[in-house]
Amino acid sequence: MSRNQALLAPRLGLGTWKMGSSPGERNAEVAALRAGIEMGVNLIDTAEMYASGGAEEVTGEAISHYDRESLYIVTKVLPSNASREGTIQACEASLKRLGIDQVDLYLLHWVSSYPLAGTVEAFETLAERGLIKSWGVSNFDVYEMQDLYRLDAGGNCGVNQVYYSLGQRGVEFDLLPWQVEHDVATMAYCPLDKGRLPKDMRLLSIAEKHRATIAQIGLAYLMQNPSVVPIPKSSNVSRVKENANARSIRLDKEDLDQLDAIYPPPERAMPLFTS
Ligand code: NAP
Repeated sequence: MSRNQALLAPRLGLGTWKMGSSPGERNAEVAALRAGIEMGVNLIDTAEMYASGGAEEVTGEAISHYDRESLYIVTKVLPSNASREGTIQACEASLKRLGIDQVDLYLLHWVSSYPLAGTVEAFETLAERGLIKSWGVSNFDVYEMQDLYRLDAGGNCGVNQVYYSLGQRGVEFDLLPWQVEHDVATMAYCPLDKGRLPKDMRLLSIAEKHRATIAQIGLAYLMQNPSVVPIPKSSNVSRVKENANARSIRLDKEDLDQLDAIYPPPERAMPLFTS
């Protein structure tokens, strides 16, 4: 059984990038996150970077109604704050904005110029103090994961959050197999290619076959791998419900072959794609 069972169980999460930027959108954003939670999508991904803490505040408002134990909250430290002391202060500030005592998963947003060993020590200290349950990284390529795993406690990293979508399948060549081998879960960010994928009419026939939408096919493709959790963002209640319903779609070999023809799998290692 994977050590990331709590992360992988919901199979899908809710992204929050761009939320918290505009006061006029706040009610819709809170409603969208609550719609997801009501449908059992209890994993929310946010970051201190998003709207300079605004997305964490929206998340805090959205989750305030719910039993904390039923939720899985992910947030991230900015690389510019990821010194040994800075990471601890950043986490405390995130917890305050979220209105909770403990984050389920705390990520380093991307590689920092601070020594990684210091960030890892800070993560371990936060875990000992009970401020985080687990930690991981984001935007790390294979060689960076290998560097991390060489550090004391580096193997405690349970997650790498990377850009992964039908339109960007490069991670399938080397990073995904490495992570499966090391029991590191993959959180797939920009799973809808920032809204471009749902407009790709080449996927319409597969969508129609499943009485689904193109967006749902893109998400179902990623969820087909049990070690991958996509985290689409939507501030719209009906699109959140649409995305949540993608969990019931099973693609067959014919669908997967057709998707391979439209979005060919990588044939060689490629640099990690980032947003
Ligand atoms: P995304 O989820 O691929 O796409 C979001 C866009 O798609 C929004 O414009 C949304 O519009 C639209 N959309 C959502 N559901 C849709 C549907 N069913 N049909 C049509 N359009 C739909 O892109 P993302 O927000 O950049 O990435 C997802 C999350 O990953 C972020 O929110 C963030 O939490 C995380 N992320 C992490 C990193 C990192 O460096 N670790 C980088 C980028 C993102 P509406 O809101 O209007 O529905």
